[in-house]
Amino acid sequence: MSPKYPGSSIGIVGGGQLGRMLAGEARRMGYRVQVFDPDRESPAAVLADRHWCFPFTEREALEEFASNADVITYEFENIPVESVSFLEGKRPVLPSPEILRVCQDRLREKAFLARQHCPVAAFSPIERAGDLERALRTVGTPALLKTARLGYDGKGQAEIAAPKDLEPAWRGLGGVPAILEKKVRLVAELSAVVGRSAAGAVGVFPIPRNFHREGIFDYSLVPSGLGERIEGTAKEIAVAIASALRLVGVLAVEFFLAEGGELLVNELAPRPHNSGHFTLDGCVTSQFEQQLRAIAGLPLGDASLRSPILLRNILGDAWAQGEPDWGSLLSLPGLRLHLYGKTRPAAKRKMGHYSVIAPSLAEARGLDERAQVILRR
Ligand code: AMP
Repeated sequence: MSPKYPGSSIGIVGGGQLGRMLAGEARRMGYRVQVFDPDRESPAAVLADRHWCFPFTEREALEEFASNADVITYEFENIPVESVSFLEGKRPVLPSPEILRVCQDRLREKAFLARQHCPVAAFSPIERAGDLERALRTVGTPALLKTARLGYDGKGQAEIAAPKDLEPAWRGLGGVPAILEKKVRLVAELSAVVGRSAAGAVGVFPIPRNFHREGIFDYSLVPSGLGERIEGTAKEIAVAIASALRLVGVLAVEFFLAEGGELLVNELAPRPHNSGHFTLDGCVTSQFEQQLRAIAGLPLGDASLRSPILLRNILGDAWAQGEPDWGSLLSLPGLRLHLYGKTRPAAKRKMGHYSVIAPSLAEARGLDERAQVILRR
């Protein structure tokens, strides 16, 4: 594929906040943007030259969308692979639909990770009721039951404290294909976002340490403070995965640091990731610009860190008492606000994030505490 320079048109399948941030970076760099998403209120669509507001399976619309794009990418996993493969027949689709196929299904993803000898938490596939007993024997309890498809932010998951909980929990999740996974005693969570070009050049962003609340990403600290050995191993694993998948684009690898010091791969996302949003304000190149550079066939950008940074999600809960006090929030030095343009705040819905840049993480934490007080009142 010849490089697609500014002025070319980038097609984004999916129009959520990841598409919005990619569209913003693409427009900054002089690209045109097409967004394909069935949601009329798609956060990305307002930044696009054109919004293709159709179901993901609408072939005629997909065909016309493709003819208006020079290269196509996707911004979330729950798109039918058939649609993305159909697009690939018309225009380059990067990362390849095959990578989407692996990453959108936990069973395929775990099988891939096993083939790559990546360390993962003990797990057992459950495809039918007859598999439940074996899963309990293999994994034991406490464990987590996770649906193979369509799970995110702790959705499609159930905690299994005792063996008797498994069958009702599996039925409660719809009796769909799932995995039972050992509940790991977590010391920390971290992630690696890796960019890879068609020529095989790779760049890994600085490693964030991530904190979750109720299964949803809450905040990140960069640098992680977890030490060179752990960060180095995470980067090596991320590069090996990206190379094995022949990735062109960016991919996030989520890790658990288990008691005993073992680093386990939790899951993969073949796209920018919530835990990589700090790169927008904290790195020379953002994860979205890197995605654009990789899929457009341009040289990868410099992924290095410009400043210690804390990033925190803003969920719809911040609207519980009405509109948050943006004036006070924006009076905090070093705070950068990113809102996704969503009009209906709902509890746990990701509405935006802020990052705090400061000479040290201790100072960033102090400012973040003040920001949280403002958002809670
Ligand atoms: P996931 O949707 O798989 O990324 O899980 C969301 C969050 O749930 C993770 O970031 C962890 O905080 C927690 N979690 C998921 N799987 C496990 C596990 N096997 N052991 C302990 N905690 C887990």
